[in-house]
Amino acid sequence: MKVLVAVKRVVDFNVKVRVKADNTGVETANVKMSMNPFDEIAVEAAVRLKEGGGASEILAVSCGVPQSQETLRTALAIGADRAILVESTDELQPLAVAKLLKAICQKESPQLVIMGKQAIDDDSNQTGQMLAALLGWPQATFASKMELAEGRAKVTREVDGGLETLSIKLPAVITTDLRLNEPRYVTLPNIMKAKKKSLEILKPAALGVDVAPRLATLKVVEPAKRKAGSKVADAKALIDKLRNEAKVL
Ligand code: AMP
Repeated sequence: MKVLVAVKRVVDFNVKVRVKADNTGVETANVKMSMNPFDEIAVEAAVRLKEGGGASEILAVSCGVPQSQETLRTALAIGADRAILVESTDELQPLAVAKLLKAICQKESPQLVIMGKQAIDDDSNQTGQMLAALLGWPQATFASKMELAEGRAKVTREVDGGLETLSIKLPAVITTDLRLNEPRYVTLPNIMKAKKKSLEILKPAALGVDVAPRLATLKVVEPAKRKAGSKVADAKALIDKLRNEAKVL
């Protein structure tokens, strides 16, 4: 069984994101970039499936700028077998990525697509759902546990106030939540091995996909600064402040 994993290059989660001076987006020049953390979990899930005999090949796919090759090399070092970069320097919105991934699914016929529940840069949480809809495949989002058996996936999902377990028929799309697994560290020998694995580069036009943005970003601004807090001497003073200053009582 072939598994496709989608990996996005995003601003590293440790970096304090800064808004560009002209309010058109966030600063990405000279900023450390890494694989989206939920996508690392997706790659780890695929590698564990392969190690357990449930998958025969893992194809990692990224859509974006040429430097996304580094992200794909990381996926290959974690254990993916080969990679495809759909190269574009244009802004790729979730719908465009979903269409590109659909075209690749049609070419490659994976039985399972694993991707992150959301990209930590745009926080869209849309691409997996859109891909499943475009393909007409079942989807299980926010997976915290997954097991494959007899052409189906049993997926435990993190939902508000609890867990939900679904059984979906393959081929399907699964998106990962934080608790699905803890991705392994990439070792130096595996980084060296990853350099020899196949990384194909395609253009959106070769897949017949129009990636023109459908949404316009009007403005990006920093969150409002919070006012400094103050300490109160006792409960009486707190109640007084809540009643007379905050006027919430
Ligand atoms: P989003 O809908 O943007 O929050 O992204 C959800 C998931 O879709 C990510 O965790 C990735 O697995 C996948 N994805 C989004 N954008 C890309 C991209 N440019 N290249 C590859 N995968 C992507």
